[in-house]
Amino acid sequence: MSQLLTDYTRVVGLEQMNALEQLAEPMRGAKVVHVNSTREGGGVAEILHKFLPFQRALGLDAHWEVIEGEGPFYQCTKSFHNALQGERVAISEDQLAAYEETNRRNVDRLAPLLADADFVIMHDPQPAALIHSFPDRKGKWIWRCHIDVSQPHRPVWKYLQKIVSLYDASIFSLPEFAQPLPHPQFLAPPSIDPLSDKNCELTEDEVASELEPLNLDPELPIVLQVSRFDRFKDPVGVIEAARIAGRMTPLQLVLAGGGANDDPEGEAMLRDVQAAAGGDPNIRILLLPSDAHRTINALQRAATVVMQKSLREGFGLTVTEAMWKGKPVIGGDTGGIRLQVVNHHTGFLVRTPEGAALRTRYLLHNRDRREEMGVTAKNFVHDNFLLPRLVQDHLSIMIRLLKGDEDRIELSAWENGRQTVC
Ligand code: UDP
Repeated sequence: MSQLLTDYTRVVGLEQMNALEQLAEPMRGAKVVHVNSTREGGGVAEILHKFLPFQRALGLDAHWEVIEGEGPFYQCTKSFHNALQGERVAISEDQLAAYEETNRRNVDRLAPLLADADFVIMHDPQPAALIHSFPDRKGKWIWRCHIDVSQPHRPVWKYLQKIVSLYDASIFSLPEFAQPLPHPQFLAPPSIDPLSDKNCELTEDEVASELEPLNLDPELPIVLQVSRFDRFKDPVGVIEAARIAGRMTPLQLVLAGGGANDDPEGEAMLRDVQAAAGGDPNIRILLLPSDAHRTINALQRAATVVMQKSLREGFGLTVTEAMWKGKPVIGGDTGGIRLQVVNHHTGFLVRTPEGAALRTRYLLHNRDRREEMGVTAKNFVHDNFLLPRLVQDHLSIMIRLLKGDEDRIELSAWENGRQTVC
């Protein structure tokens, strides 16, 4: 077993890692190519940075490529994102032309990898239209949707549905996100890497030294939200909640965020957030570089209350990250947050700033309950949302797609006295 897999064994146990290796056996050498739209910023990049080394450690020939575009392309794909999450956005013919043209312009660069890959996994809508240029593709192409598409704006979904229908399968994070499509749909929620800088254990001294340059008030409990500046993350609602809670309970709110290369709306949203904060000394807006993983780790460990008050959320890795650090999360009652925040057990689900304020005060005042819920939260992540489970899901999906027409797929069969996967 490689060092990397040995390290994971310490977290998830030998039984799961052995099962994973066994499942990977028939996939050894398979060429798997992931394509998304950015290497930095946002949950997809966060996952892929860790997913690739893991797949490679299991013997897969895994690659990660990024579609390259310019302003109009990202404007269009951000509109797709907003529309899939339910906003009534009109997308012009020019924007769609920029989307399609950008996908075509990436073909020459990506063709050597994609044309003969055994599996291509396209993440979200940005690179989805590449499939038009590969009518003779060899492998199975899978569309991986990370977005909350439970109630998409219909005209935009209709456009994307035609493209997605060309794929051999799709993967969604939740059953509510599944859509009418002419191919198998799989459910696989994302996961975090427990060994990464973002999620590894930190001593109290390490936390203190990470936070020292931020000049936070050592006397005040931290209420934290870590997010891109995006209206679906509702940072203005978080400010409102902290203000309401702060009237009766001293606290400092930390909004930690950065941009994603493929998100053209971040700057405007940041200005709105700064205006809402209005120079309040108990509201700190931290603009962090994309590699500030240990700082975020330290913030999540130092926080007394972690919020993720999203209005729509595909999954919400920030929720998982905080829960893994033993924090109950006050989360928006939506999408992937519902999968993680079991109301009153691993955190609280809220719909309004007032609700978030009420739960914030409760957690700030009830240390025992906070710690008890934090333990439940951490165990829940351990059992459901760590990287080995996601890798295992992907292997199962690949095997299912290769063996699709068979009535019976034996994931572990004995052959010549040796257990194999067929
Ligand atoms: N993140 C970060 N720096 C930031 C903001 C977010 O590293 O300034 C990370 C965060 O820790 C998480 C990911 O980006 O790992 C965001 O994933 P999530 O699923 O919460 O939201 P998304 O941005 O994909 O909508």
